[in-house]
Amino acid sequence: MATFDVEYDLVAIGGGGSGKMAAYIAASEGGLKTALLEKAAETGGSSVFAEGQAAFESSEQKARKVPPTPGMHYPSRAEGYQRYIDYSHKRANPEVVRTQVYETAETIDIMKSLGIVYTDVTIYAYEQPTELNSFHRPEGLGAHMQEVLLQAIKDAGVDIFTSTPARELILENGKIVGVVAEDADGNTIRIGAKAVVLAGGGFGGNLDMVKAHSRFAKNADHIIYMGPESNTGDTINMALAIGADTWELQPLMLVPVAKDKGLTAHINGGGSQPVLWVNKTGQRYYDEHVALSFADAANVIAIQPDGRSYSIMDQDTVEHLIADGSDIGLGDFIPYHVQLSGLQTELDEAIAEGDMAWKSDSIEGLAAQIGLDPAVFKATVDQYNEFAEEGDDPLFFKDAKYLRPVKTAPFYAIEMRAALLVSVGALRVNGAMQVVGKDAEPITGLYAAGMDAGGLFGDTYNLDVPGSANGFAHASGRVAARHAIKAIKG
Ligand SMILES: Cc1cc2nc3c(=O)[nH]c(=O)nc-3n(C[C@H](O)[C@H](O)[C@H](O)COP(=O)(O)OP(=O)(O)OC[C@H]3O[C@@H](n4cnc5c(N)ncnc54)[C@H](O)[C@@H]3O)c2cc1C
Repeated sequence: MATFDVEYDLVAIGGGGSGKMAAYIAASEGGLKTALLEKAAETGGSSVFAEGQAAFESSEQKARKVPPTPGMHYPSRAEGYQRYIDYSHKRANPEVVRTQVYETAETIDIMKSLGIVYTDVTIYAYEQPTELNSFHRPEGLGAHMQEVLLQAIKDAGVDIFTSTPARELILENGKIVGVVAEDADGNTIRIGAKAVVLAGGGFGGNLDMVKAHSRFAKNADHIIYMGPESNTGDTINMALAIGADTWELQPLMLVPVAKDKGLTAHINGGGSQPVLWVNKTGQRYYDEHVALSFADAANVIAIQPDGRSYSIMDQDTVEHLIADGSDIGLGDFIPYHVQLSGLQTELDEAIAEGDMAWKSDSIEGLAAQIGLDPAVFKATVDQYNEFAEEGDDPLFFKDAKYLRPVKTAPFYAIEMRAALLVSVGALRVNGAMQVVGKDAEPITGLYAAGMDAGGLFGDTYNLDVPGSANGFAHASGRVAARHAIKAIKG
């Protein structure tokens, strides 16, 4: 019989949206003695960066009746279900997708009951015809939601242990009976638990795991990680160590970024526009209109040579983006049609730094600065300008309205790379978020939620259903806790 330093009914490992929601439900609804272990000095995880969450047939959608996007409607659960299945090319786990479309709406009501106000329910990219109006944006965004949830779990009596990484699961007779953790002073503590919810937020901060599992292994060193350092896949590895199975470990949530400039920088907004994009060969490589889905755009950038792309624009386009606003948005980081008022200044600063933006009075001069073959690059620009003049792109069929010529000196280049926000491939779970073992049976007492629970995506994050990850984090944490309550209380 295992012995413990302290015992709980339920232990949630990870203090982001999924772990907090699991702990909140376990304590407030189930009356379970609940602990939350958080590796970092503060709870929140990547959930504090999220802008909004997906939900279907929510009270907010019903009250609003129609979305602000003309001609569009709020999606039914059935439409949501189908979109996940289709977008993943049938690689998503239907049980997990079903949980997502049925359970996300309740998160909205719970968060409202805790004081959250939803400012709008919309889409991410206004001109993306395949996108569903699933994106519920709370006032104060993810950071405020996490503050509210933290207060809620404190009020519900959850014991919160920060700077306390979980290290190992304790299994006895095929059942989870506890967790080994390390407390803030480095002491090992053995915590008894009737149920454990793995909510460690995936493995985005673990470059070795990204290389081992993602399809971007070759260029992983060029991908810029923008999530919490503490999301290193510990919880996934702890489950694998006791025989858990996985579901598509490889997908990541990537977003294009102007090297190290941050998502809200106007130089990042400028570089993310569907202007002329070339790779190291000096040639175009894709319809830049792919920028409408940040996930798809970054997937495309991540596979270019050295994981680099160069967004090319002339002075007219810079002035257009400053005066008229961005042609496309990047969520709340760069809202649609927002005037990129800081673009010129940020460009000038980055050009002075000299390693991620360049400027020249000639196309050949720009090529030389970036290190592209001047003749190839000049031919690319000349051809692109012809397409712009004709309003027709026979190479990649880009919408004519995004064909902005590169004619008025000076000319600019912004180096774009893929940034990794979170990994979204994870453990195999069933619809109740029980972790499934290699024998296809649930491991008694073990649950995974949020980015530790796989199956919602296929080979990539799904921007057709914006807010999927954060919506899933909260819904899956709740579903796991409710199953655990039943299992414990009978
Ligand atoms: C910049 C950015 C913007 C985003 N915007 C959106 C958005 O608008 N919409 C959307 O749907 N998604 C968005 N996401 C993704 C979304 O935030 C997450 O996918 C989701 O909220 C993750 O929730 P989680 O609970 O699984 O993990 P997290 O919130 O990351 O929490 C995991 C926690 O587990 C802790 N932990 C890890 N290992 C251990 C251990 N061994 N012991 C104890 N604790 C441990 C970590 O420290 C962390 O606090 C964004 C992500 C980023 C980085």
